[in-house]
Amino acid sequence: IDAMSFRPASRIASIGVSKILQIGARANAMKREGFPVIILGAGEPDFDTPDNVKEAAKAAIDRGETKYTALDGTPELKKAIAAKFQRENGVDYTLDEITVATGAKQILFNAFMASIDPGDEVIIPTPYWTSYSDIVEICGGVPVLIPCDAEVGFRLRADQLEKAITPRTRWVLLNSPSNPSGAAYSEADYRPLIEVLLHHRHVWLMVDDMYEHIVYDGFKFVTPVAIEPRLKERTLTINGVSKAYAMTGWRIGYAGGPKALIKAMAVIQSQATSCPCSVSQAASVEALNGPQDFLKGRQASFKHRRDLVVSTLNAIPGITCRAPEGAFYTFAGCGGVIGKTTPKGKRIEADSDFTDYLLEDAHVAVVPGSAFGLSPYFRISYATSETELAEALRRISEACSKLQ
Ligand code: PLP
Repeated sequence: IDAMSFRPASRIASIGVSKILQIGARANAMKREGFPVIILGAGEPDFDTPDNVKEAAKAAIDRGETKYTALDGTPELKKAIAAKFQRENGVDYTLDEITVATGAKQILFNAFMASIDPGDEVIIPTPYWTSYSDIVEICGGVPVLIPCDAEVGFRLRADQLEKAITPRTRWVLLNSPSNPSGAAYSEADYRPLIEVLLHHRHVWLMVDDMYEHIVYDGFKFVTPVAIEPRLKERTLTINGVSKAYAMTGWRIGYAGGPKALIKAMAVIQSQATSCPCSVSQAASVEALNGPQDFLKGRQASFKHRRDLVVSTLNAIPGITCRAPEGAFYTFAGCGGVIGKTTPKGKRIEADSDFTDYLLEDAHVAVVPGSAFGLSPYFRISYATSETELAEALRRISEACSKLQ
């Protein structure tokens, strides 16, 4: 009997594994072959999870907290999240307005899966975190991508939003500070967008505040519901412990939003994963309730690296780099190297040719702008040690100087 070849569902046929993960896999394969590759691809802090958080996890195991928990978060964790929203954002959520999932990625998936009918539109400013549009498509929605280049500070403007809204618009998805650009919306940046949303009551707002704790130069982080409480009835505010507490592998994300949406998200979760990891939830209670002062020190360290990356890249002919307000990414323009030729005689036609050249010639892995929906750019994640970062930047400068 002939084996039938596998045919993926048409919904996912054009969607690959996250491009950031693909580049990481390629760079790691080169490393295994002996190439001295420096990876500036993944958005993963090089710090360790705080000791008090690790101790809380060990204590939870010793107490036998290794069973299923409440479906979308333990009451202890939901209380810690409610207290965090109150303390840091000035927003009140009751426990039934809070949900916990296996990472913020799963929160996004649950939310779109629970709310999108085929053909519903989701407005996403570009550049965007690679998974946004793929998740929307997997859930049967239509990503409506709005280009927001460096000239507009990588931020969506009110007139662009107004133009993009149709009767099919279900969500607008904003991410501040942003992965990949590091751009952040101040209260003044948010206000005109909020005005537009107040006029279009069928449109819901999803905000991804994942990088809230990593901001520079006194930038004042604010979340939209804190600016305009009337938006609370149709906003999902997403956050998580991955980046701020260096807990990417613990897989805990959370969100606050209207009860009916939170309930519908639990339906998806109950069929997809059941509860998030019990031990990680106990650890996250400690992350949110425990000492927070170390976050300032981490900001200072990231700022130092940001300044190094921005000044070095801006000194390279053909590259321009805007100083980001937050997160640990720069999204640099590489329009000036398009049309140039590498020492091996290959013409650089697109940003992905440039990032291929950097990987093959300089052994530095970065991600092309095309992976985030905006070209010609490339993203550097500077959540890596300063020594490695300095060496990677030296190699990038040298590789650029060899282009003709
Ligand atoms: N949102 C943004 C903007 C991110 O950059 C990431 C991870 O890179 C996530 C969400 C997902 O985070 P988590 O590790 O909680 O799934």
